[in-house]
Amino acid sequence: MPSSFPRLRTLLLIVLPILLGLLGSVWLAGRYAERRQWGELGVEAQGQLELYAQSLRILVERFRALPAILALDTEIQALLLESADPGARDRLNRRLERLNREAGAGVIFLLDLQGKAIAASNWQEPDNFVGGNYAFRPYFQDALREGSARYFSVGVTTGVPGYFLSRAVRDGEGRILGVLVLKLVMEDMQRDWAGQPGILLVTDRQGIAILSSRPAWRFHYLQQAGSDRAPEFDARQYAGHAPRPLAGQPLRAVGDGELLRIAGPDGPRNYLRLRQPLADEGWTLLLLREAQIAGGVVRGYRLAAAGVWLALAFLALFLGQRHKNRHLRQLRRVELERLVEARTAELRKAQDELVQAAKMAALGQMSAALAHEINQPLTALRMQLGSLGLLLQRSDPAALQTCLTRMDGLLSRMAALTGHLKTFARNSPGGLRERLQPDTAIDHALLLLEARIRRDGVRVLRRNAPGAWVEGDAIRLEQVLVNLLHNALDAMADRPHRELRIDLLRDGGDWLISVGDSGGGIAAEHLSRVFEPFFTTKPVGEGLGLGLAVSYGIIRELGGQLEARNQDGGALFVIRLPAAPAPATLRVGQQE
Ligand code: ADP
Repeated sequence: MPSSFPRLRTLLLIVLPILLGLLGSVWLAGRYAERRQWGELGVEAQGQLELYAQSLRILVERFRALPAILALDTEIQALLLESADPGARDRLNRRLERLNREAGAGVIFLLDLQGKAIAASNWQEPDNFVGGNYAFRPYFQDALREGSARYFSVGVTTGVPGYFLSRAVRDGEGRILGVLVLKLVMEDMQRDWAGQPGILLVTDRQGIAILSSRPAWRFHYLQQAGSDRAPEFDARQYAGHAPRPLAGQPLRAVGDGELLRIAGPDGPRNYLRLRQPLADEGWTLLLLREAQIAGGVVRGYRLAAAGVWLALAFLALFLGQRHKNRHLRQLRRVELERLVEARTAELRKAQDELVQAAKMAALGQMSAALAHEINQPLTALRMQLGSLGLLLQRSDPAALQTCLTRMDGLLSRMAALTGHLKTFARNSPGGLRERLQPDTAIDHALLLLEARIRRDGVRVLRRNAPGAWVEGDAIRLEQVLVNLLHNALDAMADRPHRELRIDLLRDGGDWLISVGDSGGGIAAEHLSRVFEPFFTTKPVGEGLGLGLAVSYGIIRELGGQLEARNQDGGALFVIRLPAAPAPATLRVGQQE
């Protein structure tokens, strides 16, 4: 259980930020996609609104000047003066009818100073305006007061809504004779709007929708949800269409528009509202676009963001892990290298110790012969000393001289042997590479075994090669030779015929030192095992079985090979060493 806590913590440290990042990126992408969509919708809706405003402006503009021009018409002025005359009225009716047909407006009619319609272009229609009293209409009152007026209302006579453009008709002295009114019917235009996307509303100063692309929305006004404040209006203006409220709840601003939740005739829905004022008329154009953005697009953005985020997160994790692994591998390699170095050093030390131990063992085996070798000249010296006394008495200088020379020879031999023994016994470090002559190494090895060779009556056949040079550690090569010679002498100990052949021969780029004996050779089943450590056929106390194993190792370390076979009634050991060039000074000496 104790290890699960840190693992849980690591997991939380990695997984939690990834999850939080994922949620964050998905949320941001969704918001971004929504904003984009709203932005696009807003731009499109704004363009649409612009077009509606333009068409409305053009329509009103076309008829704006007409009442003023007609008011200046002298015939109309004259007819108005004689309006009591039915004939004049009749002509007036016909004139207005003709004018209206040419202008293509809704209805043109003329009111007297009391607000009574005395003539109308629709005089022949069943629900014509003639005779009706419109004194209460603001377009009449304002025209009397200010000369002209514009006013939207639903016709009391026909029930058809229209935009009323009025103008006072004056006589030559500027006295007002009546009011000329043009009723602009916009029902056709409204019908044209119906097929367009969204809901278009044209609201008047009171905020009441006087035109709409959806008939059901007409004569409604937007009321803040929760408030019951209704706009003030003259009910006669809208005739039978009493304005009704629509609850609207502003949600938030989106680009140029605003998101609203409106409980419209089709039920509550979210709309994007854009507005455009028509200042001349005092109207406002509103476009409501249903606030439905393509969920698929938002989902697509969210998915893409999640994908990108996860890919980045995993890439980061992967790179982090790779970095960590590489670091670990590097640490492990350094550690391993250190370990290998330490082990190699230990092995080398152990090997050196083994070589030295084997050498000491060999020396031990030779100790009897060596003691004899030293003892013999000592005995000889004693005898020489005895004869020296006699010679002194005789005072024979010539014989004395001979005796002294012999004694000097004996002492030199002893000095040479002990001196060399000392060198041989010294612990020589492995890996030493000096230029050396195999002949010298053979000389020294033979010197150490000379006593035994003499005692056993062994015949030594030697082939030298004074120009041979190899590279390596002289004492170690000597150790190998002592081992080989020692084994050969052991093998021949019980033989009647004892012969030692030591050859130094060139073979290509190598020098071959071979040691052959007449000891009967190595048994076939032993031939492959003689280099194994601790393999010996000698009685306990005489052989350790290390000599050849160590020799093999030494020669390998010198870059050479050691092989064994049987030949000429005995064993033959061949040391192969790469030839080295003679040292420069000596080569010069040889040339002289
Ligand atoms: P040791 O001399 O202590 O036995 P070595 O490794 O030097 O160990 O030799 C191993 C064995 O190889 C010897 O016991 C002997 O059987 C065999 N051997 C070595 N040299 C000769 C030789 N010249 N003739 C016959 N047998 C030999």
